[in-house]
Amino acid sequence: DAKRGGRRRHSFYADTMGERIRDRHEIEAELREAMRTGEGLDIAYQPYFAAKSGLLLGAEALIRWDHPVRGRMLPAQFVPVAEECGLIETLGEWVLEQACLVAARWPAGTISVNLSAMQLRNPALAERVYAILRRTRLSPSRLELEITETSFVDSSEKCRANLGWLRDIGVRIALDDFGTGYSSFRHLRGFEVDRIKIDRSFVSTIQPGQAGSPVIQAIVDLARLSGLETTAEGVETEQQRRFLTSIGCDVLQGFLLAEPLGATAVEARFFAELHQ
Ligand code: C2E
Ligand code: MG
Ligand code: MG
Ligand code: MG
Repeated sequence: DAKRGGRRRHSFYADTMGERIRDRHEIEAELREAMRTGEGLDIAYQPYFAAKSGLLLGAEALIRWDHPVRGRMLPAQFVPVAEECGLIETLGEWVLEQACLVAARWPAGTISVNLSAMQLRNPALAERVYAILRRTRLSPSRLELEITETSFVDSSEKCRANLGWLRDIGVRIALDDFGTGYSSFRHLRGFEVDRIKIDRSFVSTIQPGQAGSPVIQAIVDLARLSGLETTAEGVETEQQRRFLTSIGCDVLQGFLLAEPLGATAVEARFFAELHQ
């Protein structure tokens, strides 16, 4: 009957919610421990390439966590937890410092690091980034920070100030997941960023048998008119690569070209290109 069914459903939901909360607490405690010992945290580096020449231009740092029980975890499984419990600032700084250290060994190229909205709101961000660049001896022009539009939503003034300071010292800013927010094009006008990364959801619309995507074309054209460079993320097929290159998209990133790799593999690729 309906009543009993309803109660059963209710207890079923309460159980999963309870489990989810327990899970969250567990992940938080284990993440704290991993950050304290440094064990299990790892960074993968996904290369990106000049569309026209195919030259390796740099790589994006993507955090991973080798959990003793859950296995290799992707950011979606623990970055939101880190954001909720205030661990993201320490974690983010760790990623930034490791990534800059790795890039300082490359003969050339840019390192891209993802920032959380919380980091961007911190008035000390620019100073901390600068300190890390000094410590790792990486030129500011070789660092690109990736932010998302949601960073602007709550505290756009603090974000703007941070972006201004960072760009003043020569760090570049990329707007990640471009096109998924509600007012993406406003940020083209504001000149707050140097690059836009066209979200994978647009790139995946380029399918066999189609001429291409007029939306992507419009984004690339607008970016060029605004003096911004474009990167397409999630390039998986040869057809997507050809279309994006033909419309003047500057940089390509995706499984077709390279998956996220270990630090030494990316370093080896840079040196291999040097000796070609
Ligand atoms: P994102 O910055 O947009 O990174 C791109 C994501 O797409 C990565 O997933 C990458 O592995 C994946 N990807 C790249 N090429 C392809 C492709 O051709 N096909 C498909 N299907 N996927 C592709 P990942 O590593 O799971 O990262 C997810 C998100 O987590 C990132 O999205 C970024 O927003 C966030 N993230 C990663 N590392 C960090 C970090 O250190 N700090 C912060 N705050 N966020 C991070
Ligand atoms: Mg990114
Ligand atoms: Mg992205
Ligand atoms: Mg994305």
